[in-house]
Amino acid sequence: MTTTLQPVAAVHQQPEKAAATSNVDPVTGRVVTGDRPTGPLHLGHYLGTLANRVRLQEAGVPVIVIIADYQVITDRDETGPLRSRVRNLVAEYLAAGIDPDRSTIFPHSLVPALNQLMLPFLSLVTEAELHRNPTVKAEALAARRSLSGLLLTYPVHQAADILSLRGTVVPVGRDQLPHIELTRLIARRFNARYGAVFEEPVALLSAAPSVLGIDGARMSKTRGNTIPLGAGSDETAAMIRSARTDALRHITFDPIGRPQVANLLTIIGALTGTEPALVAEQIGAGGSAALKSLATEVINEALRGLRGRRLELLADPGYLDGVLLDGTARATATAVETLHSVQRAMGMDYLGEDVPASPPRVPGDASRRH
Ligand code: ATP
Ligand code: MG
Repeated sequence: MTTTLQPVAAVHQQPEKAAATSNVDPVTGRVVTGDRPTGPLHLGHYLGTLANRVRLQEAGVPVIVIIADYQVITDRDETGPLRSRVRNLVAEYLAAGIDPDRSTIFPHSLVPALNQLMLPFLSLVTEAELHRNPTVKAEALAARRSLSGLLLTYPVHQAADILSLRGTVVPVGRDQLPHIELTRLIARRFNARYGAVFEEPVALLSAAPSVLGIDGARMSKTRGNTIPLGAGSDETAAMIRSARTDALRHITFDPIGRPQVANLLTIIGALTGTEPALVAEQIGAGGSAALKSLATEVINEALRGLRGRRLELLADPGYLDGVLLDGTARATATAVETLHSVQRAMGMDYLGEDVPASPPRVPGDASRRH
């Protein structure tokens, strides 16, 4: 089903430097990207990034998916029901086509060597640069609370995620572009200060880089305006029926003037491999009712297989946990190697590399402390 999607386009904010997934070299390319375990995945994830991850995996590129569990507490006090949310994410990745034998899935809290990069990286950016990040500003506003240190600095943590795992290509939605720019800046500054250690990764946008939710704002878990990948067919139909459109009878593709109509056309286009303007022509005078009914049909059809596999996978939580443990072991090996390169470059390897990246557990240590 993912093979019927449109080719992806665009890197960074410079569409003229457009790059397709087919431009990614399977030998030197390495995909690193991830999601917050704040709820189930939705159509925005699928069209914005997940389909591209699967496509790149199928092209032979190593794919690493990070479950950004520490980032849950950037804009809330509680971590939430992490165990079930993380298992659900893993089930949805696998159901979408991520193959745990070829790709790596792991939560970043379990890889101390990755998290250590946060300290040198924080030294490479200024407070003013962090405050200028438009996505952080929007998220702070949406969270309706004072800006926490973690919310301000999580893009640096994201740089640690990507650079620790040696990412070169980062398939993301448009909201992530400022973060990828910061990652590139950190890589550049580190290399300039300490010598070449990092490659500057590029962002990879899809044909649907900012899918809108049923209320007309960007679809996001936090906003509660999503069409979850795991929703039932009837549920999906009801959500699409309630999606905001407009009263103009003739359907046209006009992302600026008619964003909600353009959104449904983009979703249909991305899932069927058709130009959204052509979909609009086909609907013509059918109006919003015809547009919504086509959108419902296309979404339900495209996600049918994924939904079935998701339910089967959720029935085996032991397997899902095993996928995470395997992924964590693989990610740890790369992250420890990167940390050693960083410490060597910074002259912090003065006791030699036999010093472990995380302290060994000493049996009975905890009891001695009490
Ligand atoms: P939250 O509201 O908890 O932040 P979210 O829905 O924004 O959740 P994230 O986990 O923050 O999802 O995003 C994971 C990835 O999915 C990022 O690359 C992000 O750009 C992409 N993504 C999320 N929502 C959309 C969307 N509506 N359209 C396109 N891409 C999206
Ligand atoms: Mg988000």
